[in-house]
Amino acid sequence: MRNPVCIKQLRNSPYDPMCARGLQVPAGRPAKNSVQQVRAQPNWALRTLWRKVPNPFTRHIVSRPMRLILLGPPGAGKGTQAVKLAEKLNVPHISTGDLLRRNVVKKTKLGQQAQRHMVAGTLVPDDLVIEMTAKRLKEKDARKGFILDGFPRTLAQAKALDDLSDIDEVVNLFLDPEDLVKRSTGRAVCPNCEAVYHVLTNPPKRKGVCDKCGSALIQREDDKEEVVRIRIKTYEERTEPLRMYYKERGLLRDVYASGHIEEIYQRILEALRH
Ligand code: ADP
Ligand code: ZN
Repeated sequence: MRNPVCIKQLRNSPYDPMCARGLQVPAGRPAKNSVQQVRAQPNWALRTLWRKVPNPFTRHIVSRPMRLILLGPPGAGKGTQAVKLAEKLNVPHISTGDLLRRNVVKKTKLGQQAQRHMVAGTLVPDDLVIEMTAKRLKEKDARKGFILDGFPRTLAQAKALDDLSDIDEVVNLFLDPEDLVKRSTGRAVCPNCEAVYHVLTNPPKRKGVCDKCGSALIQREDDKEEVVRIRIKTYEERTEPLRMYYKERGLLRDVYASGHIEEIYQRILEALRH
């Protein structure tokens, strides 16, 4: 069993009495069942009491939603990490790429307008993406927080997001450009449940078959090498500037995205703790 912790605790002491959201502490925190270890903390009784008494001055912190942006170039692993983080933080994973692809499959008006940009590796016009994301953020499940993956991608989108919601953290995943190409071109996705695999680093149990739903895996049209290179260039020109935008606001956490999925995940949790 691990200790419950909120994102504020990830940053401060594991016994921050101001904080009691039901999230889990990553490895390395004192074990919960080690009663003596907990009681040896200074002011243990006072801290315990504080946690139990609803306090009007701290209630807003306790119930604070977690609103995260995952920034980073195509192939940095945003989607994979977003799924894991969303599960841990118990908030929805909102991927504009997934939302757009669903519209393409359903042949909606938005899907038809977006498709040619997506296939070419360029960006879907701001007004379309902003409207789609604004609608999604208004859904009930996003009230408790969210993980945004793939939005914002331009300064105009970042400004629009400022009007839609406060943001607590921005995690920027970065990687060497050649590694990005390898990551994207080796990717296989499930057209049915949107699970993501990689031929080398995260293969499915049966080649070409989704572990979760048994559908045949496919390569995304825009994961072909020439399109991947255009997507990376588009990222550098349009999205990279957002790093500074959030750095100036003190929200940015840079995380090196090379290594195993679990290793990078732990680095993200570590970054959120500071
Ligand atoms: P990746 O992050 O690996 O490039 P995504 O699945 O996030 O892939 O996005 C796929 C495509 O969807 C992008 O290349 C782009 O055309 C479109 N797209 C997704 N999010 C946005 C956005 N916020 N603004 C404009 N276009 C977007
Ligand atoms: Zn599947």
